[in-house]
Amino acid sequence: MKMVLLGPPGAGKGTQAERLCERYEMAHISTGDMLRAERREKTPLGLAAQSYIDKGELVPDQVIIDMVAARLQKDDCQKGFLLDGFPRTVAQADAFGAIADVDIAINIDVPFDRLIDRISGRRMCPDCGAAYHVSVQKGDKCPKCGGKLYQRDDDKAETVENRLKVYQEQTQPLIDYYEQKGLLKTVNGDQPIERVLESIAALLG
Ligand SMILES: [Zn+2]
Repeated sequence: MKMVLLGPPGAGKGTQAERLCERYEMAHISTGDMLRAERREKTPLGLAAQSYIDKGELVPDQVIIDMVAARLQKDDCQKGFLLDGFPRTVAQADAFGAIADVDIAINIDVPFDRLIDRISGRRMCPDCGAAYHVSVQKGDKCPKCGGKLYQRDDDKAETVENRLKVYQEQTQPLIDYYEQKGLLKTVNGDQPIERVLESIAALLG
């Protein structure tokens, strides 16, 4: 299975990606995680990416596409893969189409007002990485490890609205792109994690 997972920030894409890859034995290809690892390890690709980021520019499509193409050569992709965070634009989707096929594009749909509440209510633990929502986690102590919970800068309400706007501008054309190819399936992401997972599983058959 070759899958693209689409969804706005806060839709629970990362969680669904992990569960789906476990269940269907697909390789989880997260371009965000890969770029962070390349930069941390200061590889030639990582240094190139860093130079764009330092200038406040986006990492060019070709750099990302080359990175994904190299990743697809690894053994764990032979059974299938799930793309998470890529493609982000129609140009990337077109370029990717030249190196690999996609069987299905799943769009996790959540109304924007629900996303603003989910993201701006999110609190992170700096010590164990756990995430909580203020509606269920009272106080600022991590129940798992006692770390002091904090709010990420880009989770603040004013930033969230902008992130969602950028997402919509960039990604709506991508949703249309996969729709026109007959590959798009949409699931309702405004329900508990397990229900979303089962909705996706039902589409995969
Ligand atoms: Zn913790």
